[in-house]
Amino acid sequence: LSRITETFSESVIREMTRICDAAGGYNLSQGFPDFESPQAIKDAAIAAITGGLNQYPVTFGEPELREAISKKVLAYNGIKCDPVTDITVTCGATEAMIATLKAIINPGDEIIVFEPFYENYGPDGILSGATPRYVTLYPPAWTYRPEELAAAFNEKTKAIVINTPNNPTGKVFTRAELQEIADLCLKWDAYAVTDEIYEHILYDGAEHVSLAALPGMADRTVTINSISKTYSVTGWRVGWAIAEKTITQRIRKVHDFLTVGAPTPFQHAAAAALTFPPEYYAGLQSHYAEARQYLYDVLVQAGFECAPPKGAYYILAGIGDLKKKLGAEDDFAFSRKLIEVAGVATVPGSSFYSDRSKGINQVRFCYCKKWETLHAVADSMKKLA
Ligand code: GLN
Repeated sequence: LSRITETFSESVIREMTRICDAAGGYNLSQGFPDFESPQAIKDAAIAAITGGLNQYPVTFGEPELREAISKKVLAYNGIKCDPVTDITVTCGATEAMIATLKAIINPGDEIIVFEPFYENYGPDGILSGATPRYVTLYPPAWTYRPEELAAAFNEKTKAIVINTPNNPTGKVFTRAELQEIADLCLKWDAYAVTDEIYEHILYDGAEHVSLAALPGMADRTVTINSISKTYSVTGWRVGWAIAEKTITQRIRKVHDFLTVGAPTPFQHAAAAALTFPPEYYAGLQSHYAEARQYLYDVLVQAGFECAPPKGAYYILAGIGDLKKKLGAEDDFAFSRKLIEVAGVATVPGSSFYSDRSKGINQVRFCYCKKWETLHAVADSMKKLA
């Protein structure tokens, strides 16, 4: 078997879901909603299926969807892109990320990744052959130190990966931070790859800024997104990468031979969803804003150490004294104990760090859940008292 696949482990996030299902617990580990997807997007998918849109799509995306994406990013993100040459529709943001890295990395290239990071970026880096350099985000506000960011760039830097709003920290990169990153990309002639999948989930007036919209960045940024989180359809696997056409040509080649295309009927449903009225997005935000406050209060009450996130739908919480209380050595033991004692599944913090020892006092909770689940979790967490 290959040496490369020996060097990373299976996804802890997906494993926690399996453990939780087996134990019949409340799944606050893998970030997917347990409430219904919007009726209108389901209707659009059903109409596409009954309407006969069931064969291979155009490899790099159905024209209707690329058209809808280009209109949406112009209006919402300030990104100008040509739907004919600058967009690749992929099987989720997950494929968009790995296809992008495969398309730009040469042996010896470095990529910069903020840490803690979304678990996939570790294996993505390894599979694409890049050497990662990590820049720490420090709690409670998850800020980076400018001098550490600047020091991470050098002549081997091929790209920086940015996830804003951020999983697992809930950080929303500010315009000033993104400008600083843009300046470094321009200085070192590096690409930026941005994962903006939580762009519609923002709190306390936080502003989502797309790096590709900053001066000079359109030609060197790959903007990744998906319908998974915005429309609560994580199982449909429709995402995309937007990039200047010579980069897109390479991404399309990788994508074609990896997966041929994302599911045709769901691409048509995605095109319909992208024209939902503003009230839809306001409703999504207000549910998550309330859920965030609720879970935050539950966690603080239970003895976790955390700050309310600014975006996305996760809380990366310090375990603090609870570790001793539950007799757990590390984050993995703690996660197992929490399922046993309270029936609540989380993701061990070390899954989000290259040096796993940095995460042994943290666990990640997600709150993209219906009220019934969140109330049951609150009740159950009282068992920790
Ligand atoms: N993004 C979600 C999370 O971090 C789901 C990841 C996945 O399993 N694809 O939990």
